[in-house]
Amino acid sequence: MARYTGATCRLCRREGMKLNLKGDRCFTDKCAFARRGYAPGQHGQSKKKMSNYGLQLREKQKAKRIYGILESQFRRYYDKADKLRGITGENLLRLLEVRLDNVVYRLGYGNSRQEARQLVTHGHFLVNGKKVDIPSYSLTANEVISPCEKSRATEKFKVFAENPKTLPSWLAADTEKFEGKVLALPTREDIDVPVNETLIVELYSK
Ligand code: SF4
Repeated sequence: MARYTGATCRLCRREGMKLNLKGDRCFTDKCAFARRGYAPGQHGQSKKKMSNYGLQLREKQKAKRIYGILESQFRRYYDKADKLRGITGENLLRLLEVRLDNVVYRLGYGNSRQEARQLVTHGHFLVNGKKVDIPSYSLTANEVISPCEKSRATEKFKVFAENPKTLPSWLAADTEKFEGKVLALPTREDIDVPVNETLIVELYSK
């Protein structure tokens, strides 16, 4: 399973905004973007006007980076979104949002999507009672996500349970039972990622 292994904070600087890819560190004064809020590299501080193509490209890169997905897989998501009924851009964001690693992150297990993805690949989660260690597993309405029995007893998971996150309206959680549930597939209004999906569609449909 391929993944990005370069410097994470560089990605925020490249996109010109905080993508919160490193969990707690993003909210401290150690945040690289807060200290150097310009693009990396020799020309990072130049103020050149971006072309239309440049804007579309940056939007696509931003979405990929937020969800931690590489180009080929992102393209497959786009192709799938394009074949589904409805608005392609919204379909794309929905497909990304219902990935198991993202839902685990939304439920509060992991301080970043990267950490949530690692928890999934290490086999800490069950979907409807069965172990699933594939971060890209696509959840549907009424599926129940829970940490496996052994993981629940660990200190790390106890800390997650004691610090529940505010959930989006399409998810529910029962902290007593260590269970999260997909109530419905998210609509565009439910997805708070700072991405203009229309620009991504424009880029890919050229
Ligand atoms: Fe981005 Fe977080 Fe790094 Fe700041 S600390 S640059 S928000 S990944």
